[in-house]
Amino acid sequence: MNKVLGLKCKECGEAYEAGGSHVCDLCFGPLEVALDYDYIKSIISREKIEGGPISLWRYVDLLPVDSGWDPNVRVGFTPLQHAPRLGAAIGLKNLYVKNDSVNPTYSFKDRPVAIAVTKARELGYTVFACASTGNLASAVAAAGMKAGLETYVFLPADVEAGKITNAAVYGANLIAVNGTYDQLNRLCSEISDEEDWAFCNINVRPYYAEGSKTLAYETVEQLGWLAPDHVVVPIASGALYTKIAQGFREMVDVGLISNQSVRISGAQAEGCGPVAAAFAAGEQSFEPVRQPDTIAKSLAIGNPADGNYSLAVARQTNGVIESVTDAETVEGIKLLARTEGIFTEAAGGVTIATLRKLAQSGDIGVDELTVAYVTGNGLKTQEAVDGHVSVSVTIDPTMGSFEDAMDSRQQADMVWSAPQVTTG
Ligand SMILES: *Cc1c(COP(=O)(O)O)cnc(C)c1O
Ligand SMILES: [Zn+2]
Repeated sequence: MNKVLGLKCKECGEAYEAGGSHVCDLCFGPLEVALDYDYIKSIISREKIEGGPISLWRYVDLLPVDSGWDPNVRVGFTPLQHAPRLGAAIGLKNLYVKNDSVNPTYSFKDRPVAIAVTKARELGYTVFACASTGNLASAVAAAGMKAGLETYVFLPADVEAGKITNAAVYGANLIAVNGTYDQLNRLCSEISDEEDWAFCNINVRPYYAEGSKTLAYETVEQLGWLAPDHVVVPIASGALYTKIAQGFREMVDVGLISNQSVRISGAQAEGCGPVAAAFAAGEQSFEPVRQPDTIAKSLAIGNPADGNYSLAVARQTNGVIESVTDAETVEGIKLLARTEGIFTEAAGGVTIATLRKLAQSGDIGVDELTVAYVTGNGLKTQEAVDGHVSVSVTIDPTMGSFEDAMDSRQQADMVWSAPQVTTG
């Protein structure tokens, strides 16, 4: 018996062996991993998971790898933080933040990459690679180099400086491309036709994508084996969004919880919101965005591979996919920081701003047990808040100077950095 049945076409259902392929020969649809849920149900239990490693590997029975994973790198099992102050600020009574900005390379991308690098080695690849909007670059560089694989990372030349440094430091081959993510992704597809490389988000994408399911598993376990009512997830390619939906379903399929009806809402930036635009228009499929224009560069995919599947998930789960402006995104970053002490990157700002918008519109009910997925760390995109945050005042190292500053603060009616949040 084996937990992995093979690969399966998402469009026509054709079955394939579990190798390094990602496209259906019959209909060119994308392939995904097919798991044997009955078998997994017979070997999995809450107790077994709770006794497992403090990382995403505690769910290895639900992941498409055999055994060669690196137990030394702690990916996943990140904090699910109760967020009463943020909740009070936006009018939600039962809010949690899943803080995935504390993974080894500071974004959730360490999760899918952990699966991809393990599978790449199982399949005998010696070169590990990716096309990245920024965060995937550092995750692949770190994991590939640590695994001793030759590693190539492609990313847009105009990503944030912090993302370049964070990717370059691991010593992988870092190739900056003058163009949009969609252009460099096309280039990487051509390279992967020529070279026998394991490209995370191309030929090993079916395995890679599975890693994101663990965010749903952890949420359920950390809530005491309970599914939330509503979650808000950022959308770039839509892989994370659709895989979180799958993760909640699987918790029921393998008997770990008895039912779930999680509403899965999605967050995009207005300057690159093809899925949100299609959702608003009631369409089944999206129109690609040719020139993304947003500070949320990690979400700037104009032609998302899982965009149409995301639309289907939103409809099936009674979720909403919304977009927010860059100004709202900056507000989202600051709001999360001052209420819950978490500094997130622009993508997290998009998520929090969307959460707020959906709370205000009533799309998220006041009492719904809601989880917002904060997927990346603010130190990587400091540009996003340049000019929006600063020191309150600069003084000389004397009591006199300090007292003058305090006086002028009182006269100016507390204009330093007046807290704009009231909590109940
Ligand atoms: C990549 C990324 C996402 C979205 O990922 P997809 O699976 O492509 O939709 C969200 N947040 C951050 C910080 C990311 O880097
Ligand atoms: Zn097919």
